Amino acid sequence: MTSTAPRPSASPPASSTSTAPGFTAPPVTVPGATAGHTLDGGIPGGDPATAWARRRDAYPLVSPGNRRTFHVVVVGTGLAGAGAAAALAELGYRVTAFTYHDAPRRAHSVAAQGGINAARARRVDGDSVARFVQDTVKGGDFRGREAEAFRLGEESVRVIDHFAAIATPFAREYGGVLSTRSFGGVQVSRTYYSRGQTGQQLQLAGSQALLGQVRSGGVRLHTRHEMLDLVVDDSGCRGVVVRDLVTGEIWAQTAHAVVLATGGYGTVFRDSTLAVHSNASAVWRAHQRGALFASPSFVQFHPTALPKDADWQAKTILMSESLRNDGRIWVPLRDGDERAPGDIPDSERDFFLERRYPAFGNLVPRDVASRAITAEIRAGRGVGPRRNSVYLDFRDALDRVGRETIAERYGNLFEMYRHATGEDPYAVPMRIAPTCHFTMGGLWSDYDLQTSLPGLFVGGECGWNYHGANRLGANSLLSASVDGWFTLPYSVPGFLAGRLGEELPDDDDEVVTAAVERARDRVSALLAVGGATGPEHFHRELGEILYNGCGVTRTAEGLTEAIEKIRDLRARFWSDLRVTGGDGHLNPVLELAGRVADFLELAELMCVDALDRDESCGAHFRDEHQTPDGEALRRDDLWAFVSAWASDGDDRGGPRSFTRHAEPLEFEAVTLTSRDYR
Ligand SMILES: Cc1cc2nc3c(=O)[nH]c(=O)nc-3n(C[C@H](O)[C@H](O)[C@H](O)COP(=O)(O)OP(=O)(O)OC[C@H]3O[C@@H](n4cnc5c(N)ncnc54)[C@H](O)[C@@H]3O)c2cc1C
Repeated sequence: MTSTAPRPSASPPASSTSTAPGFTAPPVTVPGATAGHTLDGGIPGGDPATAWARRRDAYPLVSPGNRRTFHVVVVGTGLAGAGAAAALAELGYRVTAFTYHDAPRRAHSVAAQGGINAARARRVDGDSVARFVQDTVKGGDFRGREAEAFRLGEESVRVIDHFAAIATPFAREYGGVLSTRSFGGVQVSRTYYSRGQTGQQLQLAGSQALLGQVRSGGVRLHTRHEMLDLVVDDSGCRGVVVRDLVTGEIWAQTAHAVVLATGGYGTVFRDSTLAVHSNASAVWRAHQRGALFASPSFVQFHPTALPKDADWQAKTILMSESLRNDGRIWVPLRDGDERAPGDIPDSERDFFLERRYPAFGNLVPRDVASRAITAEIRAGRGVGPRRNSVYLDFRDALDRVGRETIAERYGNLFEMYRHATGEDPYAVPMRIAPTCHFTMGGLWSDYDLQTSLPGLFVGGECGWNYHGANRLGANSLLSASVDGWFTLPYSVPGFLAGRLGEELPDDDDEVVTAAVERARDRVSALLAVGGATGPEHFHRELGEILYNGCGVTRTAEGLTEAIEKIRDLRARFWSDLRVTGGDGHLNPVLELAGRVADFLELAELMCVDALDRDESCGAHFRDEHQTPDGEALRRDDLWAFVSAWASDGDDRGGPRSFTRHAEPLEFEAVTLTSRDYR
């Protein structure tokens, strides 16, 4: 069966300004994929440093008395969604928010440990908004939008004050000023933190603000509701279809605008540092209804996760990047060295990051560190029972500053490590290995965070705009906060202002009933397959295919093979899936089946994107394109653009087709250079 919903064309937004003169994207070489048109992100022309201030001033306004006439749906109440819902309600718009969690505070954002960046330059270490932009654009290997990095830097200053005001207990120095530390890919100290629980403290503050609006009637909150589809007509997005996870009821909520803030899709790899229920279903459904998907293959593998020690593990666990401030990464010089780490003298250890990248040492960006670690493991110098990890050693820091100071900085992380592995990191080095952690790709949106489906906006990790081909540590809590609190509350009203008096479709309007029927039909189809294999099995198999074919490094041959395997797995899923239980009650197997069905389509698009992009950039490392030193080799003459994909075809296991649209990227403030962290 094919996707039959109306699909408005992905026309550029009215706010369009510049397109690179003479830009032509290279032909698509992946069989079954075609080239589309050139996209315009609607970035205000002129100096990128002032673009956001000018755009803010240009948004049309909705007068306070008219705001109650507009209804906005926000899907997801993580850091981005809670912020957007609370801020829009505070402005006076009617907001309905959905989350599949049983409370907003349980969103995946609570898992973030390390910190949140802000270019406030409170230390005299040379930081500034310009430096932040340079680090972010360069860190992303020049495959993100420069003008949006400026917005991030500019608003980062407000974000810290805002969260401090709504009760985030940021770490402070003895004298009372907020404390900062360094993260990978930068040479300044701009990361604000709450010990190892920064995400949790930010999410608590954000969800309390949201609950305040629920209490005062500004937001209607539906927990344990999963968005299954969008209501779409010729004018764009008109609402959402949700399923009550407890009763199984499927119903529609119409709205003048919809914000998706549903988080990243890293769980497509199954083993990842993300919360196990994180998924791609909301964004994938939006994609099926016409929203373009940008850079799907740009996935970040975090270098300091715990290695997989057993096949039954439900997920992998992150050790915060902040540990790289004091921990030194090394492997034994000799392949297959069986000695305990303490028995290996310094002269027989290879501190390979410090050796290869003396300027940044252990704090090189994540993509660089993950690749270097993977190379050591593949060369046979991995450590641990499965030889699938490297050491992260605090011996020298403990000698230098003492156990008490290290415990103050990282105590809860050390405790977590001890619980997870049974080893004491004060006494023996931690063992770490790269694992899937963050997705830079997501729904394509313009400068106003509006997708190619008019009226549908994105915020947080489910969007694509800031991080290019590699996100810098501590920039994601920032982008989720900026989107939710300081961008969508301007741009959504800017969109609504032109729609005053517009009626929403009634519940019995055909466009609404058809969307509800489509969602019901899909749930029934999952239950009806009647095979013998549970969704978890397919998910596990998909993860293995992706890690092998579309992982830390990629090749044309490996990607082609992965695409074939994914197609085969998808066909098997739709003929051999077994979902136990029914649809009229809480049924986690049914929920997982729906998510895996979507992952099986998204995974093919990821591999198609990775195969098409015939260059290396950031975390997208094609073995065919590397410097003699093994660094990523970009091809700016051909690939300095963002791929934004449309796809179509069978959504029950059959063939799919792909069209690649292209948004050229221009850099005015940051010189397009090769990254060099040496
Ligand atoms: C272990 C770990 C540590 C991290 N540490 C840091 C750090 O120190 N600094 C940093 O900057 N970044 C960090 N990150 C990244 C950062 O945590 C995330 O990118 C960010 O929190 C994402 O926020 P979000 O609001 O976009 O999404 P989330 O917090 O993932 O929220 C998603 C919301 O969407 C809802 N949802 C999803 N799908 C649906 C659906 N179909 N229907 C209804 N609701 C739905 C969920 O219920 C949830 O409410 C870390 C990530 C991990 C995995």
